[in-house]
Amino acid sequence: MTDLHRLSIRELSEGLKQAQFSSRELTEHYLKRIAKIDAKVKSYVTVTAEQALVEADVADAAIKSGNAHALAGIPLAHKDIFCTQGIKTTAGSKMLDNFISPYDATVVAKAKAAGLVTLGKVNMDEFAMGSTSENSYFGATSNPWNLDHVPGGSSGGSAAAVAADLAPIATGTDTGGSIRQPASFCGLTGLKPTYGRVSRFGMIAFASSLDQGGPMARSAEDCAYLMNVIAGHDAKDSTSVDKEVDDYVANLNGTAVKALRIGIPKQYFNVAGLDADVKARVEESLKKLEEMGATLVEIDLNMTEAYVPTYYLIAPAEASSNLSRYDGVRYGYRCENPKDILDLYKRSRSEGFGAEVQRRILIGTYALSAGYYDAYYVKAQKVRRLIQQDFLKAFENVDVIAAPSAPTTAYKIGANLSPTEMYLGDIYTLAVNLAGLPAINAPVGFDKDNLPVGLQLIGNYWSESQLLSIVHQYQQNTDWHTKRAAIAEENA
Ligand code: GLN
Repeated sequence: MTDLHRLSIRELSEGLKQAQFSSRELTEHYLKRIAKIDAKVKSYVTVTAEQALVEADVADAAIKSGNAHALAGIPLAHKDIFCTQGIKTTAGSKMLDNFISPYDATVVAKAKAAGLVTLGKVNMDEFAMGSTSENSYFGATSNPWNLDHVPGGSSGGSAAAVAADLAPIATGTDTGGSIRQPASFCGLTGLKPTYGRVSRFGMIAFASSLDQGGPMARSAEDCAYLMNVIAGHDAKDSTSVDKEVDDYVANLNGTAVKALRIGIPKQYFNVAGLDADVKARVEESLKKLEEMGATLVEIDLNMTEAYVPTYYLIAPAEASSNLSRYDGVRYGYRCENPKDILDLYKRSRSEGFGAEVQRRILIGTYALSAGYYDAYYVKAQKVRRLIQQDFLKAFENVDVIAAPSAPTTAYKIGANLSPTEMYLGDIYTLAVNLAGLPAINAPVGFDKDNLPVGLQLIGNYWSESQLLSIVHQYQQNTDWHTKRAAIAEENA
């Protein structure tokens, strides 16, 4: 079969169960595509071909025996921020270029337990800091829709791999938009779950109070299948919440779009820098949801101007603390011939971290220093609470809130935006993490250069089923999620 990469997760699951193809055939099919096409996309940092085939054989045996998980034998790619036992985990950094974790992240362990086959580890901005994946020590990844453009970030490798059909699904992480924005730039569906829904154990920490893992795929249905595997309480992560997990697949038609009130924040559609095509596509998608029966309600989110400054204090502050563990002593990069212990710390960190990571550590350390702690960090925490309250107030009158996922489509590789310009591009995604809310990106069309545009729907706490269901029904009535980049049409 030459077009196995065109099948959805449900079709793959059924095909495997009915022995139309084996997991080995499916895995070989993807490995062949990666070998041929990824030279152009550069989404993988590590391809685990040998191990994948072993896992595929195990899955085939389980499927034959008749008691395999629905996703057994289906391949996936993990963002290189999830620890994988015996396989390099780099977080896109020179600091961890040779790091092999002695254990699996819970997300990875859950995927393995379900019988999913790991194709490899995919590229990302260093320590998940960035919006283009250009901040990777391993070089830039290309956007499958136009190889001269970035796939977004920080989960850019995950997005590019799925959009080029080099993996049917992938894991990503989202601290301030890193699932939703690359999904938007690459025309995919990506879900950032409620903080605490997916275990952070073994997920290399960037900003612990904001980080959350989630699925990236072609459709809401595919995302729901992966959510069923990775969501849930984990005793190894004290911030993971012990709350019953929905059956996201069974709930795909569970939300009545007819009865839905969608909040349209006035402030969001007047943001300077909102691209006209992005605005138009998002408005068209909202019109479609209206045709399907939803009601659009104008709302106020008065804290919008505070999102970028608040996030860019809190996230670097937490990063400066989290990244202090990389000191060249126990693991990770160590400089050559250190003169003394201070020289060892200093050179290991300045040689091992890239420019953006160093910038964040400096900002964060400054904001946390004795003289500035109250003025910056404590103040930012107070504003964070106001941002959360703004959302809670809005959810008294609406079920979900609509926004673009990003003000623009994918940037050109090497566009070299200033840090401030880059940070302003995160305007639509940051608040969701500051408030701990779930949100989803759905593809809703293209700009004049044929680059994808994404709609973001933000839900109240624990509304993952609702978000997936709304997007699923939208996708039953539209075909944007079925569009494929030319490179994905190439056969291996
Ligand atoms: N672009 C944002 C940043 O650079 C968000 C990154 C993320 O979600 N990991 O911090």
